Amino acid sequence: MPTQATQAILTPIPSLSDNYIWMVQKNGHAIVVDPGEPGPVEALLHDGLTLEAILVTHHHSDHVGGVGALQQRTGARVYGPRHEKIPVCDVPLSEGDHVNLPGIGLRFQVLDIPGHTAGHIAYVGLLDTGRPAVFCGDTLFAAGCGRLFEGTPAQMLDSLDKLACMPPETLVCCAHEYTTSNIRWALQVEPGNAVLQQRAQAVAQLRAQDLPTVPSTIGQELETNPFLRTAQPAIHTAAHQYARTSLDTPQEVFACLREWKNDFK
Ligand code: ZN
Ligand code: FE
Repeated sequence: MPTQATQAILTPIPSLSDNYIWMVQKNGHAIVVDPGEPGPVEALLHDGLTLEAILVTHHHSDHVGGVGALQQRTGARVYGPRHEKIPVCDVPLSEGDHVNLPGIGLRFQVLDIPGHTAGHIAYVGLLDTGRPAVFCGDTLFAAGCGRLFEGTPAQMLDSLDKLACMPPETLVCCAHEYTTSNIRWALQVEPGNAVLQQRAQAVAQLRAQDLPTVPSTIGQELETNPFLRTAQPAIHTAAHQYARTSLDTPQEVFACLREWKNDFK
């Protein structure tokens, strides 16, 4: 049988209570994104698999808690946000920077996506399948978005817009398994969205088998994620009814949705 060239493998590694540490591996090399603890990554490393790099999107402990230990044990290079303080950072990054990872044959472009935290960054690259992927930490989630701990609604909306204009087939590699509760809320906002209803069923089936609901795609998010749909009349109407006041700009609609989600149980 002819041997095929190995393709990069993209894996969400479950960590802590509901985090994912993303791993990309190829030809015996691996990188991880946002290791909140070292154990789940160490369990996958072996003589034939070397950790080449650790990429960090923002400073929260559930994303950086494993960085120091992993760097010490493997010597992997640590890349992280230039404008945030993280435990170890060999290469500080902000928008316009690139990350070359020859071991796994990937090159990432860095985007500034503030809002969840002030210096949050994303890594955007083309997998060797030709498929774009974005590692977006706690900014864009499947059917949701991150809370605004350090940013304004306008900043977060700009950041989400940057992600939303990526090609629809782009894989969205977010850092938490929040999809079930996000979809429960999204159905309150937009109960008549048939694509969202189908997604709810697909997600329920995956979770019943304890499988990840990610990566999703930008296309799926555009059709089902209320935070990317502030311009849709149905979303605007729902937000207006929730706020009981007129909402004149996309930023006001977004801010209302974010508060609605914060209060949703
Ligand atoms: Zn976070
Ligand atoms: Fe987080």
